[in-house]
Amino acid sequence: MDTSVIKAQCQDRQQYVVLGGTFDPIHDGHLLTANALADKLGYDCVHLMPCGDAYHKQGSSSACHRLAMLELALRHESKLLVDDQETKRVGATYTVDTLSSIRQNIGPSAHLVWIMGSDAAQSLTSWHNWQALFTLANIVVVARNDELPADLSEWPAKCFTDINEFKKQPYGCYLLTALPPVAVSSTQIRLQVANQETVENHVPQSVIDYIEQHGLYRGEN
Ligand code: ATP
Repeated sequence: MDTSVIKAQCQDRQQYVVLGGTFDPIHDGHLLTANALADKLGYDCVHLMPCGDAYHKQGSSSACHRLAMLELALRHESKLLVDDQETKRVGATYTVDTLSSIRQNIGPSAHLVWIMGSDAAQSLTSWHNWQALFTLANIVVVARNDELPADLSEWPAKCFTDINEFKKQPYGCYLLTALPPVAVSSTQIRLQVANQETVENHVPQSVIDYIEQHGLYRGEN
């Protein structure tokens, strides 16, 4: 079946799974992690959702560039979808608002998941209205560099180890999981581009071509 048909079928399921990030740029850490997670947990698709301009890290590329690179990278990915709802919003975009809007669309009983690496999980308590996230969604924490976050006892959520039970939960729960580690970050890619080093081991060729065409990351150091 062709990729667009599979992607169209993803739209109306009782599951909504999101990997949010800056994606500046998208790299294999995002792609392999999202695919491995979909396979391990049995999700049909994962939405890759770049944050909007108002909330992205200081000095990073515009939403327009980050979204364009994401679209190129996902062109041949059958389980990964570009989700542009945060980049469309004007002003500050908080994850809690995004999840609230998704929840309104999918209804109260659908299984909603926000995926994050262990580095992001460690700082979740500094996110805007972070406790409310668990009234809307579940969280899957993926070990990054083989490290799971040390202490999540503050999270007002139930920890699950059984994947099938976890997938029955609409919100309010979290699951820690280890996937094959992919030791790459966007920071590393930006520095390598600035140093004119090759990034082809970690970034799809279409994205490398886009970076070159638009002269991105040249002045990073
Ligand atoms: P930067 O280096 O600019 O901070 P990043 O590589 O961490 O960027 P983001 O777009 O900020 O990329 O990450 C989005 C999400 O993907 C975060 O939850 C992050 O933890 C996760 N992630 C990024 N890279 C990896 C990786 N190599 N392995 C597992 N998770 C990752």
